[in-house]
Amino acid sequence: MINNRALFLQNTAQTSDSPRLLEIERAEGIYLYGPQGEKYMDLVSGFNVSNIGHRHPRVLQAIEEQLAKFMHVTVYGEFVQAPQVMFATELLAVLPESFGSVYFTNSGAEAVEGSMKIAKKFTGRREIIAAREAYHGSTQGALSLIGNDAYREAYAPLLPDISFIDYNSQTDLAAITERTAAVIVEAIQGEAGVRVPTATYMKALREKCTETGALLIFDEIQTGFGRTGKLFAFEHFGIVPDILMLAKGIGGGMPLGAFVAPKEIMDVIKANPMLGHITTFGGHPVSCASARASLQVIQEENLVPAVEAKAALFRSELAIPQIREIRGLGLMMCLQLDNFDQVYQVSNYCASKGLIIDWYLHCETALRIAPPLTITEDEIREACKIIREAIAKFC
Ligand code: PLP
Repeated sequence: MINNRALFLQNTAQTSDSPRLLEIERAEGIYLYGPQGEKYMDLVSGFNVSNIGHRHPRVLQAIEEQLAKFMHVTVYGEFVQAPQVMFATELLAVLPESFGSVYFTNSGAEAVEGSMKIAKKFTGRREIIAAREAYHGSTQGALSLIGNDAYREAYAPLLPDISFIDYNSQTDLAAITERTAAVIVEAIQGEAGVRVPTATYMKALREKCTETGALLIFDEIQTGFGRTGKLFAFEHFGIVPDILMLAKGIGGGMPLGAFVAPKEIMDVIKANPMLGHITTFGGHPVSCASARASLQVIQEENLVPAVEAKAALFRSELAIPQIREIRGLGLMMCLQLDNFDQVYQVSNYCASKGLIIDWYLHCETALRIAPPLTITEDEIREACKIIREAIAKFC
């Protein structure tokens, strides 16, 4: 019999010495299933991707219909491909009017790369400001924005002209000047351990960018598509960014990302030189078909308005003293424990009981909770019971 685990360790690139090593044979709704019939509740949505659960029937149908028509036909930006055109149109319809053009990518990091390029070209400026503790992806441009020295230094030299400010610090906004092309921030810092900024800070940041002519770029790659209780998290703060970056949940489980901007900003890639930003697979028609279905499900099943009550249930079920703090907005949550050992033991115990939770890249003392928005109240109670049991055992 083929040992997939051994082949995984031997033949596929390893990103750490301690992969979780769960073998998944199929997935359905909020559950993952192993080859021996193991069943796991996915409380992290494949890292903020499966906002409508795994393999939603509407998504499967849209994918099948598109497969019957065409898959890849040409590079991005040449042929008129209905799934791309329709999804761009539907996406713009749910965004403020200032957004007029969508560029589809394969991933979040690529959306970050494209956004940085259009911001520099449009403003004619070079400096980009990012936030300490930020995570924006692993390509070299996106990595240049990571507010964590260890990750940047390991791959130096990275992009020049990047500087950092403290997230949610109004004092640090003084660093934004007429030299700044763009300020790139997560709407809520995810990998930092779910740091929610104040609306006052976000308004001041918006004002400072407008005043200096710097573009405000929002990374909504984790927060997008209903996760925080609004379709987009910027809606919580009463501001509109200049450029919006999306990925993860946007594709309904298929690889897709996007950056969205006003048309005059996006148009800088058309000339001098022409084809200033191109991709072979960005906006793959099957991914766009899946994304359209996913957005329809989010809207028609009223998943976003239900987020707040589900989050409140998690909070009341997990109101125990060993959890020092529950940070988050909507179903993007973080349970603060005392140390990594506890986080590690609790998440391993939960996995052994059929519950997948995880931690955050830059905050190893906190547990990651980001279930599909389709999770029911009974499932929340069941999940919280296992988490409480694990915490009672290890904290
Ligand atoms: N931005 C944020 C906030 C993310 O959480 C991530 C991925 O975790 C990215 C960007 C990069 O996205 P991708 O992994 O699709 O390149």
